[in-house]
Amino acid sequence: MKFDLAYCRSLDDKLSIYDVRDLNFDETVAFDSAKEQFQCPNDACRAAFDAANVLGTFNAKNVNYVRTPHFKNIPSTRHVEGCPYVSLKTPASGVEADGGETDDSREEHFPSELLLTRREYVRKPSSPAVAADVRRDERVPSAASHGEHPSRDSAPDKTHVFAHPVECFVSNFADKELLKRMPLKIGEHTAPYSSFFKKIEFLLDNKGLIYWGKIKKIEDYHSASFRIDFEQKVWFKQPGEAKKKPYSVNVYLSKKLIDNYRKRKAFLAEIKHAIESDAPLYCFFYGVTPELKQVPSKKNPEQTFGVFSAHIENLDHFIIREAPGLEGQ
Ligand SMILES: [Zn+2]
Repeated sequence: MKFDLAYCRSLDDKLSIYDVRDLNFDETVAFDSAKEQFQCPNDACRAAFDAANVLGTFNAKNVNYVRTPHFKNIPSTRHVEGCPYVSLKTPASGVEADGGETDDSREEHFPSELLLTRREYVRKPSSPAVAADVRRDERVPSAASHGEHPSRDSAPDKTHVFAHPVECFVSNFADKELLKRMPLKIGEHTAPYSSFFKKIEFLLDNKGLIYWGKIKKIEDYHSASFRIDFEQKVWFKQPGEAKKKPYSVNVYLSKKLIDNYRKRKAFLAEIKHAIESDAPLYCFFYGVTPELKQVPSKKNPEQTFGVFSAHIENLDHFIIREAPGLEGQ
């Protein structure tokens, strides 16, 4: 059994590694996983040891990670007998870079639901550390003030972080049967991972899915706005035409969208790295479905051509990343 969650002392709550990443990059919250203490999520186990009995993290702060982020035992981590997390392999040396953690490279904890609201965090009142910096937007705060956590939206089978189901899909892509078995719910729609993730060239099959595809080019408009062109085209027959024709697909990220993003710095670091990278890159997004639009031709502005395009509306549901398991797709 791997760590689906870890207990974060200062937040007095259990977080997934994706929650931790989200907090690390969120400029509206004072949080640095390198300074936080994470412990075994098993309450009995945690009660048996002192605060120094902590877990480590892997890829919690790397914007452009390739291998699956996770919590891990460090050589000094202890568990009580019978703790389900006891069997997790402890790296013998603490050395990370040897590639020896191959069995950690798959995300095993499939969230069954992606919640579209952001998770709310409340710092432990007794914590001497940063207290006032936690934003409490989007939720009714009254229920959260009793020291309890009445909303168990953070239960392990639900996530607020888009990167989590994406990681499940990417790291388990070779296991088609598994992706067919695991259900995913977003909003009112439920489907297996295998069909909730839709290749961009098949976007006409169904609206409201997670679309993904290999990136052909990222057009950088003065690092203020960007357009992502996909490699694959959509084949579509216009009314009155005899047969299908291929159309390019792109998504557009506006300056306003990026400027207002709470993880703006991390996003810009990520997309700049992507623009300079030679590695194959993939884009995943949810919330909009590209539609056929007529746009003016660059060479001859009086002419227009058709392209499937959408404006991304929420960067929380948009990812550009390497995905070695998808190569050839
Ligand atoms: Zn434990």
